[in-house]
Amino acid sequence: MWKRRKRARPLPLELCDLCAATFPADEAVREYVPDSSSAHATRDRYDGLRLLTACREEHLEELRETYRRRPFVEEELWAAKITRALTTGPPALTLTQLGCRTGLHAPEIRRAIAWHNRHRQTREQ
Ligand SMILES: [Zn+2]
Repeated sequence: MWKRRKRARPLPLELCDLCAATFPADEAVREYVPDSSSAHATRDRYDGLRLLTACREEHLEELRETYRRRPFVEEELWAAKITRALTTGPPALTLTQLGCRTGLHAPEIRRAIAWHNRHRQTREQ
């Protein structure tokens, strides 16, 4: 009688944020670090935190150090929240709607937009 060969299940893999090596997900070392450029796709309580994934502790430490030196800028975080609101769900057409979707007040939205525009200009030069 023919027996079907069972195919080996592929192991879930992870990618190291530092060296880009792939490795089994259960061997990953992970940690959240403060990062004002990071707005979580679905959980806004994780806004301002970035989940680092590394292949080993030494690489996680290098990544930690990089984010430790990176300034945490409130306007950058607000801009990330605005970008998320504008790229997901129904369009926000007014400042009030944008405020409801982001939890930000109008002055914060204005400062975030000004920050975004300043950084867009410096990137384009
Ligand atoms: Zn690595």
